[in-house]
Amino acid sequence: MPGYLCPHCKKIIYDDEAILCLYCGESLGRGVGFMGRLRYPKHSIITVVLIIGVLLSFIILIIQ
Ligand SMILES: [Zn+2]
Repeated sequence: MPGYLCPHCKKIIYDDEAILCLYCGESLGRGVGFMGRLRYPKHSIITVVLIIGVLLSFIILIIQ
């Protein structure tokens, strides 16, 4: 699980969702636009992989 180092208090935050530091309350420098660009495609890929996995298990169940 990758941590994120707070640029203000140098503590590691393990919350991927956090925009503000949990310890000092300062911004972690992750803008909403930056997160929107990175996170949405990532979630889409995970969703597609999950759907393919479920479909594959159904196919395997039907074949057996
Ligand atoms: Zn901090």
